[in-house]
Amino acid sequence: MSEIVKNLTNLSLRAGDPAADLTILAEGNAGAVDLENDRFLVKASGVIMCKATEEDWVYLPLSKCIEILEDANKNGISQKGDKALDDLLQNSVTPNGTKRKASIETLVHVVAFHLMGAKWSLHTHPTPVVALASSKDGPVHYAGTLFPDESVTCGPTPLFLPYAEPGLTLGLGVYQGVAKFMDEHGRAPGQIILGNHGLCTSGSGVDEALATTEIAVKAARVRIGALSAGGISFLPQSAAEKIAFRPDEVARRKLYAKENK
Ligand SMILES: [Zn+2]
Repeated sequence: MSEIVKNLTNLSLRAGDPAADLTILAEGNAGAVDLENDRFLVKASGVIMCKATEEDWVYLPLSKCIEILEDANKNGISQKGDKALDDLLQNSVTPNGTKRKASIETLVHVVAFHLMGAKWSLHTHPTPVVALASSKDGPVHYAGTLFPDESVTCGPTPLFLPYAEPGLTLGLGVYQGVAKFMDEHGRAPGQIILGNHGLCTSGSGVDEALATTEIAVKAARVRIGALSAGGISFLPQSAAEKIAFRPDEVARRKLYAKENK
C-alpha cells in the first residue's frame, strides 16, 4: 500500500510542476483505488499538488461513495445526498490515521474507478484546456480529434460535459456523462473536458493518467493554434478510430498502462 501512496505523491509532484501549467495553488487532484480493501486514496482538500507529501492523501470507502452517486442518479440531488457526501469527505483519514477533509472533487475519481475500471485518476485545470472549455463553441472544438497521437492516447472521441458545481452535482454530471458515452461508444472516454472547469484523465497505470493529460494539453494548444489559423479541421472519424485501435498503437498505449501498485 505504501507504494501506492509513494506513486500518488510522485504523480502529484509531476502534475503540479509549475512549468507544466496543469494546476496552480490548490487546484487539481489525483486518486488511486485499492479495490481489495474497497477504498481509494484522494488528495486532502487544499493541498498544493507540487508540494504534496505522503501525508496529504486520505482514504475513503469506495462502495459508500458509489452508493451516493447511484442514489443521486436515481432520485436526483437532495440535501440528504449532499450531507452524506460531506460526512464522508469530513471523516476521511490519512495513511497515518489523521482525520483530514477530502477534496470536494472526490467523486470525479469515483466515476473513473467505478464506471471506467481505472486504477489511477488525475484531474487538472490546464490553461489551454480551460480556455477552450470556457469558449463559446467549446463542445464544437471537441467534436473530434486533431492528430494521430491524440486519437491513440486520448481515444478517438473526446467527452465534453457542461459546467457543474463542485460536489455532488459535479460528480453526478460526470457519472451520467460517462455512462452515456460508454453506452454509445462501448468504451470509456480518454479525455473528459469539464465545461468552464478543466480536464479528467485516468488509466490502469499512473503513467497512463499523466501521459493522457499531457497529450490532451498539447491537443488543446493545437486546437487554439488551428482556431487562430482559420479554424479546426478534425481527423476524419474513421481514420481516428482506425489508428486508435491499430495493434501497434494499442501495444504502445499498454506501455503507459503498465500497472503501478
Ligand atoms: Zn477542478
